[in-house]
This record gives sequence, C-alpha cells and structure tokens, in this order.
Amino acid sequence: MQQTFILFKPDCVQRRLMGKVMSRFEDKGLNFVAMKMLQITPELAQQHYAEHVEKSWYPTLEQFITGGPVVAAVLEGLDAIRVVREMLGATSGLQASAGTIRGDFSASRQMNLVHGSDGPEAAAREIALYFTAAELCAHEPTITPWLRAADE
Ligand code: ADP
Ligand code: MG
Repeated sequence: MQQTFILFKPDCVQRRLMGKVMSRFEDKGLNFVAMKMLQITPELAQQHYAEHVEKSWYPTLEQFITGGPVVAAVLEGLDAIRVVREMLGATSGLQASAGTIRGDFSASRQMNLVHGSDGPEAAAREIALYFTAAELCAHEPTITPWLRAADE
C-alpha cells in the first residue's frame, strides 16, 4: 500500500472541477486519507517547488499557485504514486493524452489542475509539508474486497 500527495491547484478550485477530479480518483479505487483547503504562501510554494525555484518560469508558477485557495490531499492505494501520475497525464494539458485529467480538462502547461508526487521521496516530503501524522486518517474501506483480490 502506498500513499501519494495531490494538490487541487487554484485553477481546479476556481473552475469547479474538484468534484469531477475527485470522482475519478474514487472511481479508480484510490482512498482519500487526508484533505484540507488552504492558501499557499510564497514560502510554502518555494518549499513545495524547491526543485524549480531557480527556473526562469518559477515566478509565474509561484504567482499561480499562491493566487487562490487550493485543496491538499493524500491518496492511498496499490502503486498510488505511479497510478496517480498516469491519471494526471503529461505536464502540459496540450501534450497530455485524452482520457487523462490534464488531457481532458487542461489546455495549458501551467494551469494543469492537479499536482501529484513524482516518486516515493517526493511523496513523503510533500505529505509532511502539508500534513501532520495525526491528520492522516488511515482506514480500510468496507468495499475493499470488491476492489481487488485478497492476494493483490
Ligand atoms: P509536473 O507537475 O508534471 O511534475 P513539473 O514538475 O515539470 O511538472 O512542473 C511543476 C509545475 O510547474 C507544473 O505542474 C506546471 O503547473 C508548472 N510549469 C511547468 N513547466 C512550466 C513552464 N515552462 N512555465 C510555467 N509553468 C510551468
Ligand atoms: Mg514535478
């Protein structure tokens, strides 16, 4: 079982697409174990996107991600990190395949609706950046026996 961090970015909140996107994750069988709405500060943006802070386009990313409320969440499931990244699609909505979240709802390389951790280290770091251990509500959904076989 693996946990991954996702963020409904300000464009997703403003465009009222959160419900649709959440449904996709739930329909897939992923389990929400934490969620909160917040406004990202420039300081938090710099920590979250530490790998991009030196890039020429970082200032526009910071302006975007701090420009409205976001919803941060933790998803749990088998191979959740890879599965969520594949559900998101390529970074740019113009490149992302049809059928992916970005491919279906985004026409931008910046306003691509949802962030997802890109590996186990990033997931652990990002979950800890937004949530305390006490805020993670691990639980076993009663529907689990109908989502996968017992030995998977
Ligand atoms: P991903 O979110 O797919 O992991 P990156 O880590 O490359 O993508 O970039 C982080 C975020 O920065 C992207 O999701 C997107 O919102 C934004 N971004 C990426 N490339 C650019 C760019 N060239 N100009 C502006 N914003 C960008
Ligand atoms: Mg990335």
